Amino acid sequence: MKGLLIVISAPSGTGKTTLVNKLMKEIPTLEFSISCTTRKARPGEVEGKDYYFLSLENFEQKIENGELLEWAEVYGNFYGTPKDKVMEALQKGRDILLDIDTQGALQVKKNYPEAILIFILPPSLKELEYRLRKRATDDAETIEKRLIVARKEISLASKYDYMIVNDRIETAFEKLKSIITAERWKTERIKKHLNEVTSDTEILKLLES
Ligand code: ADP
Ligand code: 5GP
Repeated sequence: MKGLLIVISAPSGTGKTTLVNKLMKEIPTLEFSISCTTRKARPGEVEGKDYYFLSLENFEQKIENGELLEWAEVYGNFYGTPKDKVMEALQKGRDILLDIDTQGALQVKKNYPEAILIFILPPSLKELEYRLRKRATDDAETIEKRLIVARKEISLASKYDYMIVNDRIETAFEKLKSIITAERWKTERIKKHLNEVTSDTEILKLLES
């Protein structure tokens, strides 16, 4: 059975990284797509684990060679998803998760309509601002910029398949997990792989009739 391509986006500061890390821990079979970026590594970030850190020249080469499933400029840097890793995971039946911005997510949906797009919303813009300040990774000017971009991103949320408000982390996490579980068991997805669903030959015959 083909794997699921799950795309998660959220305005910066919403809690996406917190949710995604929790998800990767809880579902060890879920693969995380490691993006390429031209931005500098932050302290603690590891090459090949958090991102593949590339020069602008190497990034452009990847675009030219058609190696990226999607790419976009976000906050002045380029980011892109390596195509081969995603396709390989899906073919092998593994679910893969992309943590990418709204521009990238909509490109993926266009090229791969089966992709499942999930948007994480902050409870309010006030709370978003509070979380950005609390995270303390950005200066006041950057926070201001992120809040402007957040409004643009939220206005695209209705193009996603699912919306989750990250009010309480546990509640948001349960919703996220439920979406993935439900998607795995869609009739459309499993009907060509019924022998993976049940080994009862009589039931199989009935399902296939
Ligand atoms: P993002 O990846 O969306 O930019 P982070 O996961 O880095 O966001 O979270 C931003 C800040 O908000 C962090 O300090 C995180 O601990 C906090 N946070 C995440 N989810 C919640 C929540 N549901 N309630 C309160 N604070 C949260
Ligand atoms: P950060 O620099 O904070 O790690 O990420 C900034 C933004 O870039 C986040 O919204 C993140 O989801 C997005 N991003 C990360 N990787 C990719 C990618 O491969 N493609 C696109 N389009 N966006 C990405």
